[in-house]
Amino acid sequence: MDAPFDVVVIGAGPAGMIAAGRAASLGRRVLLLERNPSPGRKLLLTGNGRCNLTNDRDPARFVEDCGPRGRFLHNALARFGTAEAVAFFERLGVPCAAGPDGRVFPRSGRSADVLAALARHLSRAGVEVGTGARVTAVRRDGDRLAVEARGGSTSAPVVIVATGGVSYPRTGSTGDGHAFAAALGHAVSDLLPGEVPLRAAEAWVRGLPGVSVRDVVLAAGKDRCRGDVVFTHSGLSGPAALDLSRRVAGRLRAGPVAATIDLCPDLSAAGVEARVRGATADHPARGARRTLCAALPGLPERLAAHVASPATVKDLRVTLTGTAGFDEAVVTIGGVDTREVRPATMESRLVPGLHFAGEVLDLDGPRGGYNLQIAWTTGWAAGTHAGGGEP
Ligand SMILES: Cc1cc2nc3c(=O)[nH]c(=O)nc-3n(C[C@H](O)[C@H](O)[C@H](O)COP(=O)(O)OP(=O)(O)OC[C@H]3O[C@@H](n4cnc5c(N)ncnc54)[C@H](O)[C@@H]3O)c2cc1C
Repeated sequence: MDAPFDVVVIGAGPAGMIAAGRAASLGRRVLLLERNPSPGRKLLLTGNGRCNLTNDRDPARFVEDCGPRGRFLHNALARFGTAEAVAFFERLGVPCAAGPDGRVFPRSGRSADVLAALARHLSRAGVEVGTGARVTAVRRDGDRLAVEARGGSTSAPVVIVATGGVSYPRTGSTGDGHAFAAALGHAVSDLLPGEVPLRAAEAWVRGLPGVSVRDVVLAAGKDRCRGDVVFTHSGLSGPAALDLSRRVAGRLRAGPVAATIDLCPDLSAAGVEARVRGATADHPARGARRTLCAALPGLPERLAAHVASPATVKDLRVTLTGTAGFDEAVVTIGGVDTREVRPATMESRLVPGLHFAGEVLDLDGPRGGYNLQIAWTTGWAAGTHAGGGEP
């Protein structure tokens, strides 16, 4: 690792790969260091192997959907938003298609194709990729930054930390970048698991593993998430539960959170009662559970046993006690405080030359291609600045 590099990128995930490729395309000599034997381990898992690589939201809607911390992205999204990401991958030979819900996938339905295209791009741009190279420290070295790694050390005027969050740590994302940032004086906000199954206190909830309900509303206080819910041996999963986990993760740290499931969001309580009365009139001798299932097609019988009255259909109470933790979390909430990072360039406001990109930053979005787009957007901005291009 003695060759003189202009830019060292740490972490060959989506953010690090796009940053390295961009800086090299702008003429910089770039070294990309990855601790795993090969790049993009988490990328391969995305979208159940199909890679929901972005969505069709315009920058304003994208920022709004990400919540208050998403405002940091305004500037960079205006330069490299969802449309630019699709155009970028199509140029790399990955045709993309948006579904009716606006999610964008490679037409092939294979995350491996996205990774292969990025690998080709890195190679064409002349990025030197060092695998099996876990970086252990980043420190100031005069007007350069020294990068210490297993197998050798190097230094460069520009370093991009793209080590990811701490979720799914078996993919290599274990929070090393947060430690580098903190050692260089950066604030790192508390880390919480997001988009993760929820634990429930009630034994009856945990006694229904595999039972699922479609298109319900799972709510905790003002937070309401609509979608399918799957009961598990420890609580609730499925899209609505994963969405809600991102909103309640902070509250759950302080203690249990009361939640409700509305099993019939499109029917009023009176509407449910009327249907049950109708079903009772049709078959007066039928038991309460089967009457309820007849009145509300789609309500699983095993769940109906726990619905005490028609009113409960709209207000099934569940006490959330925690989450399945980082091992099963799709995303990390929290990270390097964005107030200390320049939004156009991803450069540190504290350490010249130091940049951050991707999930290592305190940025996360909902399900639906937001988190990969955050990696593309911030990686592109960091790579552009590292490459000497206009921000
Ligand atoms: C199962 C699953 C499915 C997902 N599906 C989607 C989806 O469909 N759509 C979507 O938008 N998002 C999805 N996500 C989220 C998305 O994958 C991440 O937000 C995204 O990968 C973050 O990119 P990144 O480059 O910042 O970090 P990562 O992908 O975490 O990459 C960081 C890289 O840095 C390396 N690294 C870490 N420390 C060091 C070190 N000290 N030295 C050298 N290398 C290091 C790691 O090994 C890793 O390769 C999913 C996540 C999971 C877990």
